[in-house]
Amino acid sequence: TVAVVLFTSDLRLHDHPPLHAALASADEVVPLFVLDDGVEAAGFGAPNRRAFLADCLRDLDAGLRERGGRLVVREGDVAEEVGGVVTETGAGAVHVAAGVSAYAQHREERLREALTPLRCRLSVHDAVSNVVPPGAVMPSGADRDHFAVFTPYFRRWSEQGLRSPFGAPRTVRVPEGPASAGLPSRAGVRGLSPGLAEGGEAEGRRRSAAWRRNGLASYEERHDDLAGDATSRLSPHLHFGTLSPTELVHRARAAGGPGAEAFVRQVCWRDFHHQVLAARPAAARSDYRPRQDRWRTGSAAADETAAWKEGRTGYPVVDAAMRQLLHEGWMHNRGRLLTASFLVKTLYVDWRTGARHFLDLLADGDIANNQLNWQWVAGTGTDSRPNRVLNPVTQARRYDPEGAYVRRWVPELAGISGPAVHEPWKLPGRERARYDYPEPVVRLQDGLARFKEARGLD
Ligand code: FAD
Repeated sequence: TVAVVLFTSDLRLHDHPPLHAALASADEVVPLFVLDDGVEAAGFGAPNRRAFLADCLRDLDAGLRERGGRLVVREGDVAEEVGGVVTETGAGAVHVAAGVSAYAQHREERLREALTPLRCRLSVHDAVSNVVPPGAVMPSGADRDHFAVFTPYFRRWSEQGLRSPFGAPRTVRVPEGPASAGLPSRAGVRGLSPGLAEGGEAEGRRRSAAWRRNGLASYEERHDDLAGDATSRLSPHLHFGTLSPTELVHRARAAGGPGAEAFVRQVCWRDFHHQVLAARPAAARSDYRPRQDRWRTGSAAADETAAWKEGRTGYPVVDAAMRQLLHEGWMHNRGRLLTASFLVKTLYVDWRTGARHFLDLLADGDIANNQLNWQWVAGTGTDSRPNRVLNPVTQARRYDPEGAYVRRWVPELAGISGPAVHEPWKLPGRERARYDYPEPVVRLQDGLARFKEARGLD
């Protein structure tokens, strides 16, 4: 008997329930990945993620070859391609991980439609991309289909029993026949960030092991330190599933201590946003909690948005973080918070504009986590303090107290030592003139006044 394992955002061999189930029930398995037209059509095939994905597929193929198998890659419509492979191999089952986005849910429906006439079973596996799958814990109350508040969700999430992670299989027997398109390569991708991290399960596991040795214990004290860069940077690996979130949580809990606890709590935010989006797919585009905002449009707003994207707003910490994003396809969480707050609340530009820019660049760009974090910052999402504004100067002084992060990413200010780098406009005229760096695009008081008026606050 033959089974197909359709890989989606779970590009690994360790702790892979669909692969495990397929190997347990069939003699031969087709490990399949479809470069799906739909992903491109949805504008989700941005260069950084395409390059990271290429690394992941090459590594997955290499891992399968070490075990006697190979990866079959197809291009086209996912349901048609899966149907084609099922017909060619006579497979009796297709195993796939459950997804949370509207796109993934639609894919599941289409797969079912394509497989039923072929008398092939679709087996959808939970807890592959999430520790606790959407819907597995629910608040009490009749009409509530998801948690809208993080803390009670986290409590219930923490009480859930964790399944034991599966090891990687020793051998994978793939039937003769199914043709494969060539593996994509990062070299063929144009326009990627020069400092983009490497993808693939081997790299993910190496990073994760290094993180447990060197970073986890001090995560609680250091996670907000912009210059210290002391977070795990595992987000692209979690997004592409080269690391299993269940295994990650297992290992962190085994390590124990306040660092590990804080880290596990952060991993829970991922599941939290996934269960919100699974219940409210429209929140990818529209306000989760509508606030009747009338976001600025017009040429001044467009110019200021362009300055924000390019890292030349005249606020050094904002510019540093935006340039990190351009350069690495990744940004520190504190940077994401303060740059998003700046766009939405200081410039009063629609959160969707910022979310799109992040999705164009982030290697970990994820519909649920990006759109719902943006909404959290915009105050249209699940944050209970929707009108909080992060002042970029206060944030810079607190999270980059010596200014090292700014000097790293805004080299034209590298001559200013200490925290004075956060407020170049305060330098005496002659000294200020030495630095080729813009004046602030907007005065913070003016931005704040505009925001307060728009939201009807005193
Ligand atoms: P660590 O601090 O090491 O955290 C470990 C893991 O926990 C992360 O890898 C991530 O999977 C998860 N995590 C941490 N914080 C959050 C959070 N607030 N929400 C959801 N999961 C979290 N994360 C994404 O994975 N994809 C996105 O597209 C994304 N867009 C964001 C946009 C904005 C405006 C903001 C404020 C945050 C966004 N985040 C997003 C969340 C967070 O910033 C990143 O997950 C984190 O910075 C990744 O770095 P890390 O792996 O070193 O995180």
